[in-house]
Amino acid sequence: MRFRGHQRNRPGSAVCYDTAMMFARLMLAVSIFLGLITGALGQDLKIYFIDVDGGQATLFVSDKGETLVVDAGWAGHENRDARKIAAAVKDAGASRIDWMLTTHYHADHVGGVPQLAGVLPIRTFLDHGESSENSPNAVKAYEGYLAVREKGAHKVLKAGDQFAFGSGAVHVLSARKELIAKPLKAPGAGTKPSGCAAAETRKGDGSENEMSIGFVLDFGRFRALDLGDLLWNEEGALVCPVNKIGDIDVYLTTHHGSKPSGNPVMVNAIRPRVAIMNGGAKKGGDPGHWNTVKAVPTIEDRWQLQKSVLDEGVHNVADEKIASLTPQVEPSWIKVVARKDGSFTVTNSRNGFTKSYGPRR
Ligand SMILES: [Zn+2]
Repeated sequence: MRFRGHQRNRPGSAVCYDTAMMFARLMLAVSIFLGLITGALGQDLKIYFIDVDGGQATLFVSDKGETLVVDAGWAGHENRDARKIAAAVKDAGASRIDWMLTTHYHADHVGGVPQLAGVLPIRTFLDHGESSENSPNAVKAYEGYLAVREKGAHKVLKAGDQFAFGSGAVHVLSARKELIAKPLKAPGAGTKPSGCAAAETRKGDGSENEMSIGFVLDFGRFRALDLGDLLWNEEGALVCPVNKIGDIDVYLTTHHGSKPSGNPVMVNAIRPRVAIMNGGAKKGGDPGHWNTVKAVPTIEDRWQLQKSVLDEGVHNVADEKIASLTPQVEPSWIKVVARKDGSFTVTNSRNGFTKSYGPRR
């Protein structure tokens, strides 16, 4: 009986075997499919710091494939900056812009938005609200922006706002001269920087620069900082008397690394590991600002979007870490791929030069 039973069971075993094989094949197919999906989307945060000739344009791509463009460079130049941003979006495997964040309404940030809207669909526009400037040029730039903004959704950001970006989040630090009141929940935030007592204050410029949206984008343990063109005093107030920002892995030099920004008390308080200078050949890229960054004890590396001719160029980093050695019509960028453990890789699109940085120790 046992044998018969066993024999009787053989067809059943064959069925079980076939079922198991089918299940295994199905699971293999599912895992390959999921692998393709996750491979296409990536499980990392990608950031493209795009060279727009002394303007600003940064593309963030979340681990879930969402796209956030922060500033869109200049208008004109036969769609140059829109084409550069679109090339980065394509490189990331995306085909639309989910969020278009304009830090403020100066021509080197908002100027390129209408042209960008002409080459890629934009879903939601984020800004600080009404323009604060009324010169003819400022009004023209703002109205050009409003004309495309009305074709998508719109949200005004305020200091203290935050929104999810893939598995990470965007934390708004500043908007319209308002700053967050409490420190973010992050390593290094809540401390009292020793440099606050002796920190210098400077006169503001009363322009759109001071209205800039500044934010931290975090992804697991990785954190990046973009303060738009915020000025010296606001930078200082973000870390004094209490550090509200915390430790930063990648710091995009404030205001193109120009002289009225780069307050040493802020640059030191955020303990940056890598800094990226978004200046042009003759714009921003101030040697003093770069020297401040260079002197920060935690800094491991500095990269540039364009080579500066200021100060006879002696303060430039090595050519291999500069995206454009001269102003370019063709797209070039410094790309960061960040992982949740805080490690990240930086790559120069011009020459493929790449460096990896482990999690912060
Ligand atoms: Zn600017």
